[in-house]
Amino acid sequence: MSVNENNYKAILEKTNAAVATLVAVSKLKPVSDIQVLYDLGQRDFGENYVQELVEKQALLPGDIRWHFIGHLQSNKVKYIAPFVHLIHGVDSEKLLLEIDKQARKNNRTIHCLLQVHVAQEETKFGFDGAEVTTLIDRISSGALVLSNVAIKGLMAMASFTDDMEKLKQEFAAMKALFEENAERGTLKFETLSMGMSGDYELALEYGSTMIRVGSLLFGARG
Ligand SMILES: *Cc1c(COP(=O)(O)O)cnc(C)c1O
Repeated sequence: MSVNENNYKAILEKTNAAVATLVAVSKLKPVSDIQVLYDLGQRDFGENYVQELVEKQALLPGDIRWHFIGHLQSNKVKYIAPFVHLIHGVDSEKLLLEIDKQARKNNRTIHCLLQVHVAQEETKFGFDGAEVTTLIDRISSGALVLSNVAIKGLMAMASFTDDMEKLKQEFAAMKALFEENAERGTLKFETLSMGMSGDYELALEYGSTMIRVGSLLFGARG
């Protein structure tokens, strides 16, 4: 059994103390591993690949809250729109409009986080701080209408580094951007998704409300 129950309990203590949510990142792991954590009470699980998520969702209990944390292509939104709980990595207005359209077709509201590229290293996806502020302005002023999407906050992946000062800078920058945009018109942020296996404790210190942890719970991925 590759699920690490001791790590799970230790991480839960920290998220409970910080009033944060633990998303167990189960990508590339079998449904039997997910079931083990589910039986311990875990309900929030994160996946990176659309097809894998759709397959697992069909096999597992219906009260799991599925988080999509990977890079989402617009043409695949329709497959997860019926059931996804939160889409973390929204990185373009085009994607946001497609999520809105698919949510409307499914007669539901889909919760989304805007991905911010805060890391200094080669970053492919996400908005910068100014782009987030502009987008939130347009939504809160009614210039951009999203009838079936609710933007719940921000998501970031910090640099992959042991340099604590660099990580602190990045988490602090995210926290500041989150607070700047936390209440604009009818828009109200609730979720700041940051922190993974290597940096979740620091992320919680800097105000993360949702951590995404995989390898500490399920072991290294192949
Ligand atoms: C894989 C992944 C995680 C989990 O990473 P670990 O280091 O295994 O905890 C978190 N967030 C995103 C976006 C991921 O792709």
